[in-house]
Amino acid sequence: MKLLLHVCCGPCLAAFDEYFKQKGIQYSGYFYNPNIHPYLENTRRMRTFMEYAAGLGLETIVDPQFDLATWENKLGSLSDSERCAYCYKRRIEACAKTAAANGFTHFTTTLLISPYQDHDMLRETGMRAGEKFRVEFYYHDFRELYRHGQDIAREAGIYRQKYCGCIYSYNDSRFREKIKWD
Ligand code: SF4
Repeated sequence: MKLLLHVCCGPCLAAFDEYFKQKGIQYSGYFYNPNIHPYLENTRRMRTFMEYAAGLGLETIVDPQFDLATWENKLGSLSDSERCAYCYKRRIEACAKTAAANGFTHFTTTLLISPYQDHDMLRETGMRAGEKFRVEFYYHDFRELYRHGQDIAREAGIYRQKYCGCIYSYNDSRFREKIKWD
């Protein structure tokens, strides 16, 4: 198995890395998260990913796309669920497509670790993307590792974000006052 892992942030990568090493799964990291706003936060999470991946000796593919315009203009009138469906599909399909184009046999996403995401929707999106791009979606319920990943990140001093990513989740974040921009 040769797997491409879509990574949304550093803390989630930490738990996946442990899991894949225990299973003997060879993998590379893929960063593509145009949903993360504002730009400063997007680059902060990308930089965190790249630094942590470098420390692990992980091969990476990085697409630094930033797309506030789509979320503001095209997705503004959608419900939260509809917006997340678009967001999952865009990122997961990009991972599947990149995996297929680069000789990977499998792909998956660190979003599967989060108890705050729509897990069933993620699984279905991954399965459909796998069929579309003819590369196998690696599914496991990684939510059992969420707390452990947060603990590793805290101990390692990895940046832990306080909202999901898009401008709407930022506006709704109960930790908004604690978010620093310097
Ligand atoms: S809440 Fe998260 S998953 Fe949903 S659209 Fe915003 S960034 Fe994407």
